[in-house]
Amino acid sequence: QPVAIVCVGMAGSGKTTFMQRINAHLHGKKEPPYIINLDPAVLNVPFESNIDIRDSVNYKEVMKQYNLGPNGGILTSLNLFATKIDQILAILEKRTTPEPTSANPIAKPIKHILIDTPGQIEVFVWSASGSILLDSLASSFPTVLAYIIDTPRTSSTSTFMSNMLYACSILYKTKLPMILVFNKTDVQDAEFAKEWMTDFEAFQAALRREEECGSFGGVEGGESGMGGGSGYMGSLLNSMSLMLEEFYRHLNVVGVSSMTGAGIDDFFLAVSEKAEEFKRDYRPELERRR
Ligand code: GDP
Ligand code: MG
Repeated sequence: QPVAIVCVGMAGSGKTTFMQRINAHLHGKKEPPYIINLDPAVLNVPFESNIDIRDSVNYKEVMKQYNLGPNGGILTSLNLFATKIDQILAILEKRTTPEPTSANPIAKPIKHILIDTPGQIEVFVWSASGSILLDSLASSFPTVLAYIIDTPRTSSTSTFMSNMLYACSILYKTKLPMILVFNKTDVQDAEFAKEWMTDFEAFQAALRREEECGSFGGVEGGESGMGGGSGYMGSLLNSMSLMLEEFYRHLNVVGVSSMTGAGIDDFFLAVSEKAEEFKRDYRPELERRR
């Protein structure tokens, strides 16, 4: 049975480029994936998708017809698409387990389904149709989330913390296994992130360093400081560290460059691990909830 990999992340984190990279990687291994594009507003998709939301809904027309702005347009397009989820699943089931035919006697079953999502992450993760799409997918296939992170833009402690809390909220909302993909390692190495996630002392030290450099100049409570362990931010952070430690333990973390292809093998290792986890822990839970 194929694994569904759903790419989520902030706009500009590199979801589409990452999809392009893993698509090329799988083609190179002669294991072409099945690709779904769920971003109705994208102009050019740099890979061939098998199912494209743009084939069934015209985002520009939806905006005009319902008198909506860009986000409303994306949301409504997703809603319209979600009404066809049964058809989509039927196609997926059929395509991922091909019957050998005389024309194609060695039809290989597809191992991966890749899904690209709209740039506006909240529109997908926090909408009813996004939930419907994810839940339907997860009821048919082992499904893992790849949370793509713009590493160079996450290298300060405050953006890092915000990004981790956001990832945590998505994990909590979707209840699917998650891989943190630190992208753009050609620009900035992701070792600092791995260190901060395994060693809270190191994170606190970084906080203190940034504070001394005055990066928190404008932040309220600047004098009590964020890393000092005293004052409002300090004690908040110390309490959060316990929660985050627990959160981090459930994640796989990989550093990749969608530009150069570095780290892509690690990503696929993480995918197999998370797919096993899905079958073992998540699927029984999903079935129980249903
Ligand atoms: P999306 O909005 O999440 O789909 O992001 P895109 O895939 O469109 O990428 C946003 C920008 O980041 C583009 O200019 C990409 O060329 C750039 N980008 C994506 N991945 C990488 C990477 O691994 N390294 C570098 N240097 N740039 C990247
Ligand atoms: Mg994109």
